[in-house]
Amino acid sequence: MKGRKLLMIPGPIEFTPEVLRAMGMATTSHVAPNFIEVFGQALERLRQVFLCPSGQPFVIAGSGTLAMDIAAANLIEPGDNALVVNTGYFSDRFAAILERYGAAVTQVRAPAVGDAPALEEVEAALKEHRPKLMTITHVDTSTAVGADVKGLAALGREYGALVVVDGVCAVAGEEMRQEQWDIDLALTASQKAIGVPPGLALLVAGPRAMDAFRKRKTPVGNYYADWTKWLPIMEGYEARQPRYFGTPPVNLIWALGVSLGQILDEGMDARFARHQRLSKALKAAVTALGLRQVPVAPDKTATTLTAPYYPDGVDRTVLGHIKEAGVILAGGLHPAIKAQYFRIGHMGVVSASDILATVGAIEKGLSQVGYEFEAGVGLAAAQAVLIRQ
Ligand SMILES: *Cc1c(COP(=O)(O)O)cnc(C)c1O
Repeated sequence: MKGRKLLMIPGPIEFTPEVLRAMGMATTSHVAPNFIEVFGQALERLRQVFLCPSGQPFVIAGSGTLAMDIAAANLIEPGDNALVVNTGYFSDRFAAILERYGAAVTQVRAPAVGDAPALEEVEAALKEHRPKLMTITHVDTSTAVGADVKGLAALGREYGALVVVDGVCAVAGEEMRQEQWDIDLALTASQKAIGVPPGLALLVAGPRAMDAFRKRKTPVGNYYADWTKWLPIMEGYEARQPRYFGTPPVNLIWALGVSLGQILDEGMDARFARHQRLSKALKAAVTALGLRQVPVAPDKTATTLTAPYYPDGVDRTVLGHIKEAGVILAGGLHPAIKAQYFRIGHMGVVSASDILATVGAIEKGLSQVGYEFEAGVGLAAAQAVLIRQ
């Protein structure tokens, strides 16, 4: 029997063999001609994956939290108003980061865990506070709530706010059209739907964000995050003229180039549609098994992630049985409900057979902890969706 288990958590995800091979290649100099080409091409591809032809990409060693930190460090000056559309744990984190750089933060909170604030409430806050910047968490990884990024971004723009999207659990999985939707800055990390091992903070800044950065009156309060340092590096590599600020993570950037190539080979529209189809199948299975989900309504739900509550009498020990059946899932994260639910990530190279394997393992685990249901009912529900679409 193969020892390998299927990793179905909201990052790190499963990576393709080609991506993993790039991680294992002999590391070259960061100014070797073949690396310069790969880095330059990765920057060009990032623009295509974010669907932002006029954007300025940044690829910087660090995790998704660094990407959030970079956004705040470069766009906030002490005393600026900022608005956080709060859908959970990672929205709280963005508020804390913005405050660290001196922003006066207003939060519009969801009425309950699993919900998202209404557009009208966000509009009222925009009207009242006229923030310089507004943040949206595309997929709140603690609740599997998916925000209406398109609607919120349009509102933010209407009131002159720079729209910043934390797309760490979303970019390259959820539909996001940065330029068309008027998003000023979108960011993610390599280990989620981008499909590269952890270690890269990825951002694409639109012209208004770059303009706001250039018009700053105060220096950026973080040496490593400062776009003044990084912009010449990104422009340099894209022009195939390497420059040095901090040593780039050579193998990760090779892997990024490979993964972005695979993403673009599939095509963004096909990729969004695949994520939607697989999400629908998994969510149908969860419902058929009698499990409720954290998001309060289907239109508040992410397509990269599913967060079911444990049924009555079941707790996180079921995750151990599911793992023994071959699939690794994640426990709860949101402090208010942490012990009551679990999370299934389904993004990146995830396939229909991964979904069926996951549902099979969940059924096996549930039966082992004594939950009563008709064996195969989840599998049938998932398969019904997969066969239809
Ligand atoms: C994972 C995640 C982050 C944090 O990324 P790290 O790489 O763990 O620092 C931020 N926001 C969202 C929405 C996430 O899913």
